[in-house]
Amino acid sequence: MSKSKALQAIRGMNDCLPSETNVWQMVESVLRRVASNYGFAEIRMPIVESTALFKRSIGEVTDIVEKEMYTFDDRNGDSLTLRPEGTASCVRAGNQHGLLYNQEQRLWYMGPMFRHERPQKGRYRQFHQFGLEAFGIATPDIDAEIILLTARLWRELGINEFVTLELNSLGSNEERANYRDALVSFLMTKEALLDDDSKRRMHTNPLRVLDSKNPQVQEALVGAPKLSDYFGEETQAHFDSLCKRLDAAGVKYVLNERLVRGLDYYNRTVFEWVTSSLGAQGTICAGGRYDGLVEQLGGKATPAFGFALGIERLVLMLTSLEKVNNVRPQVDAYIVILGEAAEIKANALAEQWRDLVPESRIQCHCGGGNMKKQLKRADKSGAQIALILGENEIAEKQVMVKYLRGQQEQQNLAFEQIPSLLAALI
Ligand code: ATP
Ligand code: MG
Repeated sequence: MSKSKALQAIRGMNDCLPSETNVWQMVESVLRRVASNYGFAEIRMPIVESTALFKRSIGEVTDIVEKEMYTFDDRNGDSLTLRPEGTASCVRAGNQHGLLYNQEQRLWYMGPMFRHERPQKGRYRQFHQFGLEAFGIATPDIDAEIILLTARLWRELGINEFVTLELNSLGSNEERANYRDALVSFLMTKEALLDDDSKRRMHTNPLRVLDSKNPQVQEALVGAPKLSDYFGEETQAHFDSLCKRLDAAGVKYVLNERLVRGLDYYNRTVFEWVTSSLGAQGTICAGGRYDGLVEQLGGKATPAFGFALGIERLVLMLTSLEKVNNVRPQVDAYIVILGEAAEIKANALAEQWRDLVPESRIQCHCGGGNMKKQLKRADKSGAQIALILGENEIAEKQVMVKYLRGQQEQQNLAFEQIPSLLAALI
């Protein structure tokens, strides 16, 4: 009988191994803390929603809905979809629970998203987003504050020198519709120069032609009408006010008239943070204003602003820029246990120390063995120190402390001195 083949994870859906989870946890804790620094509260939504939710929000003729969604019929014959993004679910939840009407809400979420794309570095079929949404505020003060929040994230993660903010305004629906007509007329005169994708989009979603990655298409776009020429006073004032606030806060940005985003629900402000340190998958964070979506999904008209960032891309960036050295190892102190008296006493001591220093990470050696073997394990655990307990130490109520990472000499400390030593490691 042939040996059965080992099962593999689904292509584009990755395990996050223990050697990586510490970086993830560091990133996640910065995201959570910074969100709370600005008064945002967490919301958790289901991973599966009705397919109609995404069709109605993201738009029928977007890449996501046309070709990237994991859609299936459940046993009742209902069409369900693994969420490709979080904003639609967040609005659905807000409407369903009456969180949005006539009030201000500041929410964030984090979790897996699913898109059937071609897997490559920085692009996966299950990936993770952190997203943040503010509801009920129409003025550009919230646009500015949320962009400042993202800038703070990069500073706190140590990558601010490697990212650039791109900014644009998409105008109101009416302004964009007028522009759309002018753009289609222009594109018709250039049809012979467009690729198949752009020819198709010219009729379904012409603004998307603007952010085509094809250089030939970009060349054909020289002389195209500008969306900003169609802005009314209010749109212009909103955008100017945002720019002024960013200037005052010292946040640099690049105006990019071609930035249109791949989801249909945006109006006015849109932005992306991009980097050149990730190759082709250069966008780490993207968002903007979506004042029409709440009403479109059945709620009362409510202005909104939000963004999502890709956690895998952040982790890749931190790793390739070697910004992960200060990530705390899994274990602070490793207890080496030699002889029967120590075997009996070690767990009780470790329990006391964990009680006294709740944040400490203490690992007791299990499975016996000599000092050399145990110290090898201690080193591998990443611990800063080994706490050695032998017959003599137990008799003297002492621990021999061996420093695993620096030049410091080993020393004997009384049991009661260990908690302050542990606290200093955190
Ligand atoms: P891209 O242009 O890279 O396809 P997008 O415009 O489709 O991105 P959004 O829907 O705006 O992306 O999602 C916000 C962020 O989520 C992106 O900026 C990116 O960091 C991340 N992201 C999107 N799709 C993926 C994916 N398939 N794998 C990993 N991260 C992703
Ligand atoms: Mg995409």
